[in-house]
Amino acid sequence: MVERAEQFAGPKPLTCSFCGKHIGDVLRLVSGPGGVEICNECIDLAAEIVLTECSGEGLVRVPAYYFKHR
Ligand SMILES: [Zn+2]
Repeated sequence: MVERAEQFAGPKPLTCSFCGKHIGDVLRLVSGPGGVEICNECIDLAAEIVLTECSGEGLVRVPAYYFKHR
């Protein structure tokens, strides 16, 4: 994973915008527009939230600790 992290190293460290993990500490990091990134682990959590913990529509605001303490 270290090689991959270095391969994508840019001006700023690539970390997940949700949990703060470095690209070298996760399996995948997805970069979106506007300088946001999300790792595979947070994608799983977000999918879980959408599928199991939410009814209805619209924005779901999840506190940061939810991602960082699992
Ligand atoms: Zn993450």
